[in-house]
Amino acid sequence: SAEEVISLRKQFLSPSLFLHFKKPVMVVEGKMQYLYDERGRRYLDAFAGIVTVSVGHCHPAVTEAINRQNQLLQHTTTIYLNNQIAEYAKELADRMPGNLKVVYFVNSGSEANDMAIMMARLYTGNWDIICLRNAYHGMSIGTMGTCGQHTWKQPMPQGFGYHHALNPDPYRGAFGDDGPRYAADVADLISAATPGQVAGFVAETIQGVGGAVPLATGYLPEVYKMIRGAGGVCIADEVQTGFGRTGSHYWGFQRQGVIPDIVTMAKGIGNGLPLAAVVTTPEIAASMASRLHFNTYGGNPVCSAGGRAVLQVVDTERRQQHCAEVGAHLVERLTALAAKHDIIGDVRGAGLMLGVELVKDRKTKEPAKAETAAVMESMKDMGVLMGKGGLHGNVFRIKPPMCFSRQDADFLVEVMDLAIS
Ligand code: PMP
Repeated sequence: SAEEVISLRKQFLSPSLFLHFKKPVMVVEGKMQYLYDERGRRYLDAFAGIVTVSVGHCHPAVTEAINRQNQLLQHTTTIYLNNQIAEYAKELADRMPGNLKVVYFVNSGSEANDMAIMMARLYTGNWDIICLRNAYHGMSIGTMGTCGQHTWKQPMPQGFGYHHALNPDPYRGAFGDDGPRYAADVADLISAATPGQVAGFVAETIQGVGGAVPLATGYLPEVYKMIRGAGGVCIADEVQTGFGRTGSHYWGFQRQGVIPDIVTMAKGIGNGLPLAAVVTTPEIAASMASRLHFNTYGGNPVCSAGGRAVLQVVDTERRQQHCAEVGAHLVERLTALAAKHDIIGDVRGAGLMLGVELVKDRKTKEPAKAETAAVMESMKDMGVLMGKGGLHGNVFRIKPPMCFSRQDADFLVEVMDLAIS
């Protein structure tokens, strides 16, 4: 029972873990965009295990690929040859633009970003990293320092050399949607806080944990120019935004018309398997050629088989186009809902990576934190699971498995309407 699991968690799991709802949900089964609790009650999942179940819970093609590999070989490490990791690397590289052709597999987004930062420093010989306020890049000691939200910071040294630029947030930022004006802050930061030379710049292309915040228009092209001018490399954190989720493009950075030097990916890459990757250019990768670097599980055959199936499904089931279509419909419905409820301050995002921000007052934008939690809890009781985020905890994060349908979108909006009312 849920009570027994709660008791076991209390006794044997770290007290730092937190639950999403006041009255927690126990999930025992998942099928595509639906989750089932221990009593067989069905929930529409609009959060996908924190934006991780990309193509659907237990998608048959992914399950079959994992099962097949599971019978054959579960683990080997990269000290032996195995076809899965090599073929997977090629298939992933084939989906990257420009010269992003070299793949390192790891197991989590934190590891991927740690590695990207290490590569940036090794390649450039510089130290300083520019990141964004409100960012989230991971919980390792190294990546914690890149996070721009106090919520996720522990009181201890957490990596060094990180400088947080103004967040180019079109809704709450000082310069609205004017990307180049925020970019000017990066130039100031480089001259004020670094020797003038930097190792790199890292940013999500739509901030996820930060509350589905898209970067202001025209921001990345300007910043990428500046960073490269200061000897640095540009890292795109595609942990949440990759694999077609944003609808208009396969990768989130393509929305701003840039090509990064290093791309990190996790979550949706494996539909829930512990899998992540760093993809970079042969030139940057070469800076690690003379150094030993190793990851025991990275790209293990079972995860690679699952990851390959995800790539296939995204293509054959046209998930990117589907995200664009259903996402546009959902934004339209949510925008109409905002016209009805003043508490909705902003509807934003792209594809099936959306945010709905609740405010007490549209002018002051005072966050409606308690109301956000209450609406989310009430929606759960009516069978819809959503995420919550943002520095003030007042943003719904709607990021369902990419099989989420138009009907599911309609149901979510109807339930949100009821809950807010
Ligand atoms: N980057 C982003 C954008 C993320 O959202 C997350 C996880 N929420 C991470 C990195 C870290 O990933 P992980 O939890 O797999 O270490």
